Amino acid sequence: MNNKAFLPMPDDDGFFGEYGGQFLPPQLKAVMDEINNAYEEVRNSDAFKNELAELMTHFVGRPSPIYHAKNLSKKCGGAQIYLKREDLNHTGAHKINHCLGEALLAKHMGKTKVLAETGAGQHGVALATACSLVGIPCEVHMGEIDIAKEHPNVIRMKILGADLIPVSRGTRTLKDAVDSAFEAYLADPVNFFYAIGSVVGPHPFPKMVRDFQSIVGKEAREQFMDMEQVFPDYLVACVGGGSNAMGLFSAFLDDEDVKMVGVEPSGKGINTLDHAATMTKGSSGVIHGFSCYLLQDNEGEPLPVYSIASGLDYPGVGPQHCYLKDIERVKYETASDQECLDAFMDLSRYEGIIPALESAHAVAYAMKLATSLDADQRILVNLSGRGDKDIDFVAKLLGLV
Ligand SMILES: *Cc1c(COP(=O)(O)O)cnc(C)c1O
Repeated sequence: MNNKAFLPMPDDDGFFGEYGGQFLPPQLKAVMDEINNAYEEVRNSDAFKNELAELMTHFVGRPSPIYHAKNLSKKCGGAQIYLKREDLNHTGAHKINHCLGEALLAKHMGKTKVLAETGAGQHGVALATACSLVGIPCEVHMGEIDIAKEHPNVIRMKILGADLIPVSRGTRTLKDAVDSAFEAYLADPVNFFYAIGSVVGPHPFPKMVRDFQSIVGKEAREQFMDMEQVFPDYLVACVGGGSNAMGLFSAFLDDEDVKMVGVEPSGKGINTLDHAATMTKGSSGVIHGFSCYLLQDNEGEPLPVYSIASGLDYPGVGPQHCYLKDIERVKYETASDQECLDAFMDLSRYEGIIPALESAHAVAYAMKLATSLDADQRILVNLSGRGDKDIDFVAKLLGLV
């Protein structure tokens, strides 16, 4: 390992090593710099920190527990598996952590509307929730395929008062929803706030979203030490854009003995075209205003990507992850659709916990890893969300109904 992981990141231009930055026209760069300045101001303001902390406790329900999944560990035979229960947060996933931060910041900056894209609908629901609470209008762009697949989240957003914009172009999934939302944002970037749903996009979003998510790792570090008097041997988290993984990993980067694994979807197979394994198969490129590993064609255009979990099908990935891969602080592995489904059912049947399909990728990898380790080793999985949104889809697929 390389101790460059300890450097404060990103640098002033928003780079994590060679990744990140602001690949934007000057007018938008100025808007992003203004957001960065506002963020740097509020992150050091006691009033803002206290307001956010209060909401984390009394609205989100933090701290989320850590649970020792003894039955699942026993079934795997090998290491002990623990779950950081982000699925128990209000709205059912980790995304509420950064959505509240972003909505509060937008309000603080006097913005008139918050815009966003959503994949599985989790970011849309979390953002619509945060905007209702904070009192600011919210517009969510979502691909038509995802709308059909994630019906309950679509209804939730409507009930919460968000303006839902269906996206019918291109892949009709997350990537095109980002393009659509971004175009709408460009109509008035001075008064609108684009709430990015992960540790991606131009500076300062990878930094800001990571900071808002870092509460997951800070809690986990303390909780795990209280529970077991040691740190986990491994941290495992699924990686779409990478926010739940960065949230957990960020608190442990200096703990050299804690190994970390980010799990990407290999979909129908890493050697097919139906996956979203950006770290494994991608190369350096630029997407949505920042540089990162990217699944791209010869012209640098993002490739269509696929995962059984809508929240993981993004052709890029957070710039800090790219850096952590290059310095070998974090390893990036994959889990397939089938492994994800098996883990989804195993966690449900052995522990009574129905995970989000996204999170089930991390569980799947942890189960494989556990089998290869001894019983005194400990794996902490970030259970990023609950599977209520996925039950109809899975039941149909597995012929349960
Ligand atoms: C959106 C989502 C993810 C993927 O996003 P990251 O930014 O990679 O964390 C993972 N799990 C759940 C439950 C999600 O909703």
